[in-house]
Amino acid sequence: MKKISLQGIIYDEKSSFLRGPRLAPPLIREAYHSNSANYYAEDGSFIAPDLFVDMGDHNIKDYFDISKTTAKNLRVENPMITFGGDHSITFPIIQAFHSIYGKLDILHIDAHGDLYDSFEGDPYSHACPFYNIMKSGLAENLYQVGIRTLNDTQRANAKKFGVNINEMKDFQSFKMPKFKNPVYLSLDMDALDPAFAPGVSHHEPGGLSTRQVIDIIQKIEAPLVGADIVEYNPTRDINGMTAMVCAKLFKEIAAKML
Ligand code: MN
Ligand code: MN
Repeated sequence: MKKISLQGIIYDEKSSFLRGPRLAPPLIREAYHSNSANYYAEDGSFIAPDLFVDMGDHNIKDYFDISKTTAKNLRVENPMITFGGDHSITFPIIQAFHSIYGKLDILHIDAHGDLYDSFEGDPYSHACPFYNIMKSGLAENLYQVGIRTLNDTQRANAKKFGVNINEMKDFQSFKMPKFKNPVYLSLDMDALDPAFAPGVSHHEPGGLSTRQVIDIIQKIEAPLVGADIVEYNPTRDINGMTAMVCAKLFKEIAAKML
């Protein structure tokens, strides 16, 4: 039976507004095991705990240790899901994936483009990971969806790197990309409307519904080799409802990987 590697990255030092995502990994696990739901994905896949090779949660001190930790946990025969952490973790994670898979196609679901070359003096801020990924040539194609905060700086960088953006205002025209390389899915929980996922640092109204994110995941047609769920901030959550959304999306991602 195919296994999926699982790791938690305890790290939120690159957050520009609020801390809290470092608390997320164990709470997403807890929601996944909650007796209020079962272990099935919607396609009928049984997403049981023994499906996962769980590498545990990693307390990160230095930013680029995320790359080393991920490389240690990554097995070429297993797709991997990471629980974040703020979104800065995706750049070093992709560095590790690139060393195994070469060029990737990335599907990035977020309210924000995260395409700044530097934010408030930090080139590795959670507002910068996709600038760093594209500048380093780690992904051949970057597709973004859910985006609703673009400014001139990020538009210019998107153009420079040929980033394919479906802005939220144009979501009705969104079509699933035809992927050419192994696919990595990076899911920032603030892509969802805060009405569906209040437990995030940046409440950006006008976002995706839980249903729309599930539909996007279910429509991916390509080998999904990696994924992350980032920016869940438990200090902002209400009755653990965002944790349950994370767990639901986690099961759908795992089903897609099988
Ligand atoms: Mn983000
Ligand atoms: Mn975001």
